[in-house]
Amino acid sequence: MCSIIGYYGNETAAPILVKGLKRMEYRGYDSVGVATENDNEIEVKKGTGKVNEVNSKVQLDVLPGKIGIGHTRWATHGKVTDLNAHPHPSNSGKIAIVHNGIIENFEELKNQLESEGYSFKSETDSEVIANILQKNYEITKDVKETILKTVSELQGHYAFVAMFENGQLAAARFHEPLIIGVGQDDFFLSSDVLGFIEYTDDAIYMENGNFVILEKDKFQILDFNGEHAKYGITKVSKEFGDAYKGDYAHFTLKEIYEQPETILKAGEKTADEIKSTADYIRHAKNIYITGSGTSYNSALIAKQILSKYAKIKAEPIMSSELQFSPDIIEDNSILIAISQSGESADVLDAVKIAKKANCKIIAIVNLLTSSLAREADVTIGMNCGPEIGVAATKSFTSQLVILYKIVKYLNEENLKIDFNQTSQSIGKILENPTNVQKTAKELKDISDIYVLGRGIHYPIAIEASLKLKELTYIHAEGIPGGELKHGPLALMDDNVFVIIINPNDSTYTDTLTSAREIKARGAKIIGISDVQSDVYDYWIEIPKISESEFPILEIIPIQLLSYYAALEKDTDPDYPRNLAKSVTVK
Ligand code: GLU
Repeated sequence: MCSIIGYYGNETAAPILVKGLKRMEYRGYDSVGVATENDNEIEVKKGTGKVNEVNSKVQLDVLPGKIGIGHTRWATHGKVTDLNAHPHPSNSGKIAIVHNGIIENFEELKNQLESEGYSFKSETDSEVIANILQKNYEITKDVKETILKTVSELQGHYAFVAMFENGQLAAARFHEPLIIGVGQDDFFLSSDVLGFIEYTDDAIYMENGNFVILEKDKFQILDFNGEHAKYGITKVSKEFGDAYKGDYAHFTLKEIYEQPETILKAGEKTADEIKSTADYIRHAKNIYITGSGTSYNSALIAKQILSKYAKIKAEPIMSSELQFSPDIIEDNSILIAISQSGESADVLDAVKIAKKANCKIIAIVNLLTSSLAREADVTIGMNCGPEIGVAATKSFTSQLVILYKIVKYLNEENLKIDFNQTSQSIGKILENPTNVQKTAKELKDISDIYVLGRGIHYPIAIEASLKLKELTYIHAEGIPGGELKHGPLALMDDNVFVIIINPNDSTYTDTLTSAREIKARGAKIIGISDVQSDVYDYWIEIPKISESEFPILEIIPIQLLSYYAALEKDTDPDYPRNLAKSVTVK
């Protein structure tokens, strides 16, 4: 949920670490810190806030030494304070660690260490790792034995990097991502390739339950039994280094504007994978589709298009809920798991449950080197390039296109869709945002907004309300049109705004009636439609297009509206408070 980074080489470590942390800030960003080793001494600098803020306060990038570790935090245990920021030194100051994840038995370990005279400066679970390492190092005097002993005592999910005063660096991975970057004369450790892509494109994706020890010019990767582990060096696509905002004010805006191209790249060159997914779907006893957040909303759409265009039943499952009813998964079925990062802990857990029931796993994922891609029988890449904005935008439309492509393969006759046409229509919406910007101004001081849609537009209404929540912090809720009079109508008055998703398809007339019922109670109506109506106080026009394409299209103006409303409200659209991009903890 945060990012960890380590550097071992011939260059001054601190600036390299700070640059890497800046690039990975999307993963977690409430605090930041760096520690380096120089002349057998460890120095730590850290604080709360974004990388640039803390750096200008304490000069994180001005530290001596060619070995170092760094961290951006997304707090799970203990408030967002300077003391809770990582790195955490051990009591002797001879070891420092950065940690991503949760140590479940930290209280027990902390009590034990306290009874032995260790003291703790922070409220974090992570600080126990530093002190257990110290204790074990004092016993074993050997880094390898120290790590082995330490990991045997830790429970939970973690990736940590430990720096020893003698200049050795070690890192362990257990259910949180950890990648080694292998440079010419140096090594990098990182949660994401973005941490080192500027320096090398040779990466080793460490297996779960492995650790690495870095020394001058060499490294060894071992498993938690101390045996040498197998590994391979992967060439990482340089494209993933291309995570700059360019001329855009924010990554989120850039990513929204990339969609005319990214939807054309979704699932590109995966004809074989789409065919085998379709084969699995045809022969499976049951089809489950899982994801979290935006990816779950894609699963809801998938259910509808599979049933509408291919007459196939599928069951969407919220990944985080599956552990409470694992028995719904029957054997000889398939699970389609959707995740941008491929590292979402809830999705990976759902996959584990499905695998136990002998299900085949189809992954729809952006990062092809992720844990999810490696767990899957078939992987289809979203191919949309790095998505840094925490609120998913382009990954959502890419997911939809892949799902449409699968359904199209299952029944070409029924689903006629020309993605070039969709791409052009998205371009048209993005061409002139003035009307959306004007409407966004109206949302500045409101506290509630509802998004209403019927049929396939209801999951889009849910996704729309998720965007509004994430980016503007306005309370937002999706309403299925037909349910309006069964409850939500009671909420309508002149303080409320309602977005009506109303393209001219089979849902049009009923949804227009809902809009009139709402307007009669005083609420303001924002209509997203290809047809103008007097019921809309604000009309956001979308191009006319074939019925099947509307869901991909109609989310675009709402992404834009949420973005511009965020600017009005002075929130940071790239890094919404309390959220992180890839949720690798439960
Ligand atoms: N559990 C640790 C903390 O709260 C690490 C959280 C993270 O992954 O950023 O400090």
